[in-house]
Amino acid sequence: MVKKVVIKLGTGILSAGKGKIHEARLAKLANGIHAVGKSSKTQVIVVSSGAVGLGMGKLGLDSRPTDLAILRACAAIGQCLLMNAWTDALRHVGLVSAQVLLTRDDFNERARSQKVQETLDALLAQGVIPIVNENDSVSDEEIKFGDNDVLSALLCSLGKANLLVILSTAKGLMTHPEAGSLVPFVAEITPAIEQMAKGTDSPTAVGGMVTKIEAAKIATKSGCAVFIGSGEQPSELSEIINGQAIGTFFAPAGLELRERKRWLAFFPKPKGRISIDDGARNAILTQGGSLLASGLLHIEGEFEKAEVVSIIDSRNQTIARGITRFSSAELLEIRGKSNSEVLDLHPGKTRPEVVHRDHLAPHVSSPN
Ligand code: GLU
Repeated sequence: MVKKVVIKLGTGILSAGKGKIHEARLAKLANGIHAVGKSSKTQVIVVSSGAVGLGMGKLGLDSRPTDLAILRACAAIGQCLLMNAWTDALRHVGLVSAQVLLTRDDFNERARSQKVQETLDALLAQGVIPIVNENDSVSDEEIKFGDNDVLSALLCSLGKANLLVILSTAKGLMTHPEAGSLVPFVAEITPAIEQMAKGTDSPTAVGGMVTKIEAAKIATKSGCAVFIGSGEQPSELSEIINGQAIGTFFAPAGLELRERKRWLAFFPKPKGRISIDDGARNAILTQGGSLLASGLLHIEGEFEKAEVVSIIDSRNQTIARGITRFSSAELLEIRGKSNSEVLDLHPGKTRPEVVHRDHLAPHVSSPN
């Protein structure tokens, strides 16, 4: 299912402070990369931060230098340490690593981005693990990405990756930065989702949840799913790829119906069931349509909008799972109604669909 995954690791995950690498985490990640490569032939590209932070540690700097030349010098020192650590950790599991350093210019010119992709493809074809980072020692404000979240998303788009995994010090997207609860599944990155994110104040890291959401927007638009989770106690990579890990999963946007069923495994456990008539069943399964209120028969369970529900046909078979745009109480009110009647009852909504086709995955016995 997931043939190519990009894993982005933030500075806070790889650094053990004072210029040291978190060896145990690196070893666990190397084992995970080896395991998924062996079991499901999944190709892995690593985007690894940490160069600046490691270089700062080596120079005994506690705060991020404002002098750009010194910042670039830190990156030049730290990148060696970073690559040595990755090379050792991957060698330990029988894998070869390769260093690929990029600047934004590599993506701005098509000829250059094609060369990047050719190099990555050549490495992956040899079973080599590319370790990518921004070329901080030559980047300046004009050409900097600024953060590896966006860099990793652009690599997903360029290389048609199926899944972007962003491991950081955050557990995932929280409903509120300080005291919220984890958002397990995002069907669509709306302004409300973007408002939940905030920047970072760590002296060695850049980005924060704001750039992670930006990265998720870029990656999901190119048909790539995104997982944001904790790298401090990282789940096994195989669990992440199979949708069993704790974090926030962002569904790929705008995929054809046949494409979306692959992501069923990542949908959280349904919070309710919606029974539909045969007309609605055909619309979903044979016409790639959305679920409309006119096809609703029964609503089981109590749930809010944006929750995952099972969609059941008249033979009590689960034909799909999807993200409902209405709560269970609202569905009881609009059941059987036409689209115009739904919009009259809910003037704040711009669309009448109960479950939009982009947020609907036909049920399969086991996602292939
Ligand atoms: N490229 C920077 C470094 O290696 C980090 C950028 C980021 O964490 O997004 O330190």
